[in-house]
Amino acid sequence: MKMETMAVHAGFAPDPVTGSVAPPIHLSTNFIHGPASEEIHGYMYVRDKNPTQDRLESAMSALEGGADALVFSSGMGATTAFFQTLEPHSHVIIPEDVYVHVRVLAATYFANWQLNFTSVDTQSLAAVSAAVCPNTKVIWTETPSNPLMKIMDIAAVAKIARDAGAYLVVDNTFATPALQQPLDLGADVVMHSTTKYCGGHGDVQGGCLVLKKRAPLHDKLFHIRMVQGAVCSPFNSWLILRGLRTLPCRMERHSANAMAVAKALTQAKEVERVFYPGLPSHPGHEIAAAQMKQFGGMMSILVKGGWDAAVRVVSRVKVFQAATSLGGVESLIEHRASEEGEGSTSPPNLLRLSIGLEHPDDLIADLLQALA
Ligand SMILES: *Cc1c(COP(=O)(O)O)cnc(C)c1O
Repeated sequence: MKMETMAVHAGFAPDPVTGSVAPPIHLSTNFIHGPASEEIHGYMYVRDKNPTQDRLESAMSALEGGADALVFSSGMGATTAFFQTLEPHSHVIIPEDVYVHVRVLAATYFANWQLNFTSVDTQSLAAVSAAVCPNTKVIWTETPSNPLMKIMDIAAVAKIARDAGAYLVVDNTFATPALQQPLDLGADVVMHSTTKYCGGHGDVQGGCLVLKKRAPLHDKLFHIRMVQGAVCSPFNSWLILRGLRTLPCRMERHSANAMAVAKALTQAKEVERVFYPGLPSHPGHEIAAAQMKQFGGMMSILVKGGWDAAVRVVSRVKVFQAATSLGGVESLIEHRASEEGEGSTSPPNLLRLSIGLEHPDDLIADLLQALA
């Protein structure tokens, strides 16, 4: 079945009791069990699993082509649960350009869990290979990466991971399954911040892990989520499921708009660099073109004149909103170094743009007037 059809139907079987076409939200925290606590309806308590969450998990798993999926309260909830499956003294490779709180998680908590990590430029296969140790258990990647839009060759890194006996995890938040399917390219696990494009409307937080194979990770992750409690609530599950129905449609428009904005910005004399993998000048363009259907709605730019010049642009936009996060219907702009704060590795003149679903002409005009 094609992606567009799957997005509309996966997880959306009509309710067998009422025939409702839109799925019900089961807010109940508990479910009737037998006199000696026998599970009789398939559910016991909301923190273990619940029917609305099950629908979202089956939809995420279908869209990514996985064997199973687990949804969490946030992308970081999913990420933390994944790292907690590792045995002490495991070694992890993370990208230099990675979502800021993954870097903070590694730097602050890995030592407590007796995990070691090396941070490398995952664009360089030689650098990834060189970082592999006998106890390397995970290569964690993001492509395109946040915020520098670096592209990693998923199939090539999957081979390095396989040879090392390590899992390859791809944070697929920027691309979404509508544009890129890492499990088909050899990854073992896909992570999503469903807060972003999957939810798609800037009104819900969630995270997800999709597994290529159910064993051995599923039961460990299920137990960690149940004990530690970073579970996706029924209402959030329902909102994210609702977002998935239009995901392929939205990603097409986000991508077309972003391509138009990126091309226009390369012509603007106030802009030093545009990082968008859809531009032939992007160093990862060819790999992105091979592993992505389109190039997505995220980009970053370097503004001539440094920190102050970049902040000035954010202060002058009228259609773009100055806000963090991404993947909603409205376009957002953010000075990443000031958002990330101390320890940020973002260039001081970098702005990150989440291109929304407005008309591209209005977005381009807004940016050009703000840059001028
Ligand atoms: C937002 C984001 C995360 C973290 O997800 P939350 O839902 O905010 O916890 C991880 N990776 C990427 C690429 C993100 O953009």
